[in-house]
Amino acid sequence: MAVVHVINGRQKKLFGGHPWVYRNEIERIEGDFAAGDDVDVVDFRGRYIGRGFINPGSVITVRILTNKKEDITGEQIRERVRNAVRYRAYFRRDDTDCERLVFAEADLLPGVIAERFGDAVVLQTLALGMQKHEEIIADSLIEEVDPKTLVLRNDEPIRSKEGMKLFAEKYYGEDIRKTIFKENGIKFEIDLYGGQKTGGFLDQKANHRRLRSFVKGKRVLDCFAYSGGFALNAVAGGASSITAVDISEEAIDLVSRNAGLNGIYGLDIVKANAFDFLRESAVKKERYDVIVLDPPAFTKSKSALSGAVRGYKEINLSAMRLLRQGGILATHSCSYHMPEDLFVNTVLSAATDLRRKVRIIGLYGQDNDHPVLAGYPESKYLKSLWLEMLN
Ligand code: SAH
Repeated sequence: MAVVHVINGRQKKLFGGHPWVYRNEIERIEGDFAAGDDVDVVDFRGRYIGRGFINPGSVITVRILTNKKEDITGEQIRERVRNAVRYRAYFRRDDTDCERLVFAEADLLPGVIAERFGDAVVLQTLALGMQKHEEIIADSLIEEVDPKTLVLRNDEPIRSKEGMKLFAEKYYGEDIRKTIFKENGIKFEIDLYGGQKTGGFLDQKANHRRLRSFVKGKRVLDCFAYSGGFALNAVAGGASSITAVDISEEAIDLVSRNAGLNGIYGLDIVKANAFDFLRESAVKKERYDVIVLDPPAFTKSKSALSGAVRGYKEINLSAMRLLRQGGILATHSCSYHMPEDLFVNTVLSAATDLRRKVRIIGLYGQDNDHPVLAGYPESKYLKSLWLEMLN
């Protein structure tokens, strides 16, 4: 087995449990290997760090699977899937039949995402070295969850960077293309072979529900609505009027179909760029009681951070302009590269610029089925900041 020697200085994070060795952290590789093979990783003094798989074509060149000197067996992978699925049982609710079953590195299954939507399971493999375990993972999920169908959503473009094919196909069970699942008692339709990410934004379930407490009798604006997770929970919480904004036609269709599924009519659904919508609403002197901002990741890398900060500043500033005294802002960032303190400070600086005083209701994160692995800060990515405008 080839041995990867890591440069001095990077051993600390790896001994601390971080599972990634970047290309520029490798001093040299001893021995032969092919892409996807298992390799041993040692520090600059030759101390053993762990065993994982290598893909020289990927910036994340090695992903560590174990800190022991052991072969990674199918049985071990099966056990990890079982543990992941069983962990979710702590958080299961009767009114919710969707959950992320496997959250990659945070469940010790690097690059593997699995989600359950009602009777269906969707599996995505994003790292070359896990491809050889895909069948075992899929079969274990079927054993644990007993779904009607399991779909491989291997069409995420990032796979081409890993040198993997892009496809979406049925692995098991019935030919179901679209299905309906329940989140907090609200029905959502999902296209198992299409849709953004694996089709849903399950990380927001707890925040969707949180919104209900703040909206009774209120005028609510849901910006970056996607399938309407916030907007439909606003209905459940008794909002008097709701506007949902998204730039994508597909998202707009989803919001209206999901509303219909739940017998909800009269939502104001707008296809627009949220930046423009917010700015124009301010010009028209529109006012809202509650605004949700849940934009896509403005930055997927550290280098794009300053642009991202400007983006967050702009939408939060515009949203605050529209909020009445006593109004509530629920504002989000789903990019790991946007640090929590920088995000909070950016949002609060918008209030300062407007000379508005705010109360911090709370700072929350992703739902529990997206666990956080100690030593791997990348697994804690979603920031959900809730504010009340005091003047
Ligand atoms: N709030 C959703 C998830 C939002 S994902 C939920 O809780 O489920 C981000 C959404 O922002 C996507 O639907 C995308 O189409 C939309 N989007 C991206 N850029 C946008 C823009 N400039 N204006 C409005 N919507 C945008």
